[in-house]
Amino acid sequence: MNARIPLAVGLGLLLLVTGCGEPDSRTEPGAAPAWSSAPSPTPEATTGPVPTPAATPSPTRTSPPPPPPVRPRPTALPAGLRKTTGVRGVALTFDDGPDPVYTPRILDQLREAKVKATFCVVGTRARRHPELVARIAREGHQLCNHSWQHDMDLGRRPLAAIRADLKRTNKAIRAAVPDAKIPFYRQPGGRWTAEVVAVAKQLDMRSLHWTVDPQDWAKPTAATLTKRVHKAVRPGAVVLLHDGGGDRTATVTACPRLITEIKDRYGITKAR
Ligand SMILES: [Zn+2]
Repeated sequence: MNARIPLAVGLGLLLLVTGCGEPDSRTEPGAAPAWSSAPSPTPEATTGPVPTPAATPSPTRTSPPPPPPVRPRPTALPAGLRKTTGVRGVALTFDDGPDPVYTPRILDQLREAKVKATFCVVGTRARRHPELVARIAREGHQLCNHSWQHDMDLGRRPLAAIRADLKRTNKAIRAAVPDAKIPFYRQPGGRWTAEVVAVAKQLDMRSLHWTVDPQDWAKPTAATLTKRVHKAVRPGAVVLLHDGGGDRTATVTACPRLITEIKDRYGITKAR
């Protein structure tokens, strides 16, 4: 009966490990916070008899370790996010890499089209593939901090924890490229908080959100992905794509044509 807490924690861990997508970037008010470690009611909790709210854990039961402290999830995006380029040109951003299979292919395509993009890299993956971080920088693309291990809840943790995570990630990037500029931070899952924006700013990083999210992490076909981008893109858009975190075949397949068409229609510029 009381399996809901371990279940919620288990779900949370599962999402933390596998959740490289941005599942709720199109924020739906009131969406079920299955990832949340807050003790909010869960669907399964409503199916059985309603427990009394005052119920406390039995002293005879072994207590699980306390969940990591998190603040409540904000209901709206905080101020201070960059969502557009501010000019006509469109910015392409690639998240969740670097990935040894997909990142080089995306880099080849960008080089072929003679355009620059922004790569939002995960710290653990930057540490594992420093040569890819170096290539990103060497070829004139921008680097963006995407947290140490894609912690969707990072923005809700204590300020010191946020700060340590972002600094650790920058350190991994600079282990690959000692003089790397890291002008941006992007919060995993788009789960921004005012606190994470403020810490990023203290570390000289602007908070980079997006305009267009074709949800390539959910593995649409290349044709669907292309259609979604074309339908949503407009002057000054920041387009969210993924070069890591899973099978990005569709993204790699769709990108050459997408890059050419966006370049011809709007121009491609760096995020700013
Ligand atoms: Zn991500």
